Amino acid sequence: MPDGVIATTKPISKVNLLGMTRAQLEHFFAEIGEKKFRAQQVMKWIHHQGVCDFQVMTNLGKALRDRLETLAEITPPGISSQQDSTDGTRKWAISVTGGALVEAVLIPEGDRATLCVSSQVGCSLDCKFCSTGKQGFQRDLTAAEIIGQVWLAINSYDGWQPGKGRVVTNVVMMGMGEPLLNFDNVVSSMDLMCDDLAYGLSKRKVTLSTSGVVPALDKLAELSDVSLAISLHAPNDEIRNKIVPLNRRYPIDKLLSSARAYIDAQTDKKRVVTIEYTLLAGVNDQVEHAQELTQLLKDYPCKINLIPFNDFPNSGFERPSGNAVSRFWKVLMEAGFIVTVRTTRGDDIDAACGQLVGDVNDRTKRSARYRAQYEELETLEG
Ligand code: SAH
Ligand code: SF4
Repeated sequence: MPDGVIATTKPISKVNLLGMTRAQLEHFFAEIGEKKFRAQQVMKWIHHQGVCDFQVMTNLGKALRDRLETLAEITPPGISSQQDSTDGTRKWAISVTGGALVEAVLIPEGDRATLCVSSQVGCSLDCKFCSTGKQGFQRDLTAAEIIGQVWLAINSYDGWQPGKGRVVTNVVMMGMGEPLLNFDNVVSSMDLMCDDLAYGLSKRKVTLSTSGVVPALDKLAELSDVSLAISLHAPNDEIRNKIVPLNRRYPIDKLLSSARAYIDAQTDKKRVVTIEYTLLAGVNDQVEHAQELTQLLKDYPCKINLIPFNDFPNSGFERPSGNAVSRFWKVLMEAGFIVTVRTTRGDDIDAACGQLVGDVNDRTKRSARYRAQYEELETLEG
């Protein structure tokens, strides 16, 4: 070795077991020559008891615990800050590897508590009214970083104790990012959300929201049966092309057919697609738009969730007046649709759709946006 060169030993990176599904964990244990049931024991420690230290896993045997310590880790993402709203909404800024921040929001409501989870740092799809879109895309979250948001929320309420009741009853993939563009990690995370050895949520209580990545949605139908929300936001392609650029690739008729095929593939025939429609003053909020929407969705198995636009600095859009929202709602109601209007929660901590968090890249503070209210899920849950 030449003089002056210092030898360094790069630590071998350990595999993070937090984001592994049951099948992946069984595979991991098989690879290291252990029995499958070890996967089940470890899953329960991680997701039922919140344990990250192998030495605490007393049913594993000392030799295996020591071995796991050298090979693996259980590392949730870190919390950068936490804010509580006066209405009970709690929001976390979560720091992920590389210094970026993403958000998760827990919205308690009666006997439900809905956790809104992020899937990417930023988003590449550039919807014109969305502040995450304006940030651009930074990177996909790992499965550990996605399921880690559920883990952190429960941990934050000390929710591991037996008999404590569920801290998180519902999950919506409506945080930062387009979940279908981070397909494998999102599918693994949703698998864990629904697995009894992890969070055991019913498929009706986990909702994926997409702006319409049609090929990925077609693929999802073969792998998953969680609830589906489609970000439609327009009654025709002309308007949708302007506000959701992805529509130029996958126009409305293709998207609606793919979403219908998704729910048709489910065993539970009563399920419907949630249509999300963000109301933007003067853009898509007029009575004629509502009438056009009733024609478009006639005979379509859906319910409609209206989201009055949540403003952010330099958005270029405005929130419609209460009257405009009511007029729009009335047209749909009178046509026989099930329609909810999403109310804003966590206003005092900027936890509503379309607000806050920043420091993507450790450089500029930028606003991201947040999703809030989920009355619509009540109907989905039946
Ligand atoms: N990328 C996915 C999921 C995250 S966005 C999607 O687009 O569906 C979740 C929902 O919030 C979407 O319906 C999105 O269009 C909507 N949304 C984004 N920015 C918003 C804003 N500023 N005001 C109101 N709704 C917004
Ligand atoms: Fe991405 Fe969804 Fe925002 Fe569109 S609305 S830019 S898909 S996060």
